[in-house]
Amino acid sequence: MRTIRKLQPGPGLEVCDAPAPTMGAADVLIRVHHAGVCGTDLHIAQWDEWAQGRIRPPVTLGHEFAGEIVEVGEDVGDEFAPGQLVTAEGHIICGHCRQCRTGNGHICQRTSIIGVDRDGAFADHIAMPATNVMALGEIPTTIGAIMDPMGNAFHTVLTGTEVPGSVVLVIGCGPIGCFAVGIARAAGASLVIGTDINPTRLALARGMGAQVLLNPQHDDVVARILEATGGEGADIVCEMSGHPAAVAQAFKAVRLGGRVQLLGLPKGAVPLNLSNDVIFKGVTVYGVIGRRMYETWHQMRTFLSSGRLDPTPVITHRFPLEQIDEALEAIASGAAGKVILEIGD
Ligand SMILES: [Zn+2]
Ligand SMILES: [Zn+2]
Repeated sequence: MRTIRKLQPGPGLEVCDAPAPTMGAADVLIRVHHAGVCGTDLHIAQWDEWAQGRIRPPVTLGHEFAGEIVEVGEDVGDEFAPGQLVTAEGHIICGHCRQCRTGNGHICQRTSIIGVDRDGAFADHIAMPATNVMALGEIPTTIGAIMDPMGNAFHTVLTGTEVPGSVVLVIGCGPIGCFAVGIARAAGASLVIGTDINPTRLALARGMGAQVLLNPQHDDVVARILEATGGEGADIVCEMSGHPAAVAQAFKAVRLGGRVQLLGLPKGAVPLNLSNDVIFKGVTVYGVIGRRMYETWHQMRTFLSSGRLDPTPVITHRFPLEQIDEALEAIASGAAGKVILEIGD
């Protein structure tokens, strides 16, 4: 079958043939229709410091995908059948550590990620544990292929928050930030403010429903947010950029007693005035990793299949599998929203 692989340590990816995956009794074999390409794939292709420490080649890339079931393992119940359209949670967890056994599998001590720690979905076929597979129903595979990053946005916006009627600030309007804007609107936020330094991304965020857009290169973000909220600040701040200055802004812009949901990954330590910006303000801080298994997936499926959320404006580029380099270039340019590969059908 066709695959996109990292064959050895160093920059670059190969489009090459590899044997079809072997499947276990508890697995489902899926023919991949569409796959999402993201910054993680770019890091692996470029062989940056993170990739050097984490990736053990050879490995097939791709952790965001959707497709059609072609075979079901003998121990899998009758929930799944050949022909069904599905997507899957790409974090494969142990099921028996303390976190897994207390409903917190997204922070499993032994998480193995497809396309990172084991062979992934930039391939004609992938075998997945049935426990990770989610039926798409009426949701098309183009959308199914982006439910992994969209799930990060659902996890960020809806965990521990009360969105209806609230003011939501989304800092960083890459694809996940744009999804977060749409989710906040769909969940009933009264005002959604998006910030980014990239005009293309701000335009995408406007398309997803952001009512106020700010560019920190020209606007005093904190002053504008205080102005828009009668001096109070935002109820919920979603920090999606990982930029140290943006993290500082998040804590200045949140209201007393508000919530800061941190998803963006800063490269190093970030200075923070904990006394003034967190403790005296009574702020709650939540670290977002992956998607809650499987509350996030059920919420997402409901929002999508009811038509409350249409994420399609965020998909800006589509390429055949063979054009992975062009797909990565689109991401590296900063001018892309979500980029997807058309693999099967
Ligand atoms: Zn991703
Ligand atoms: Zn575990």
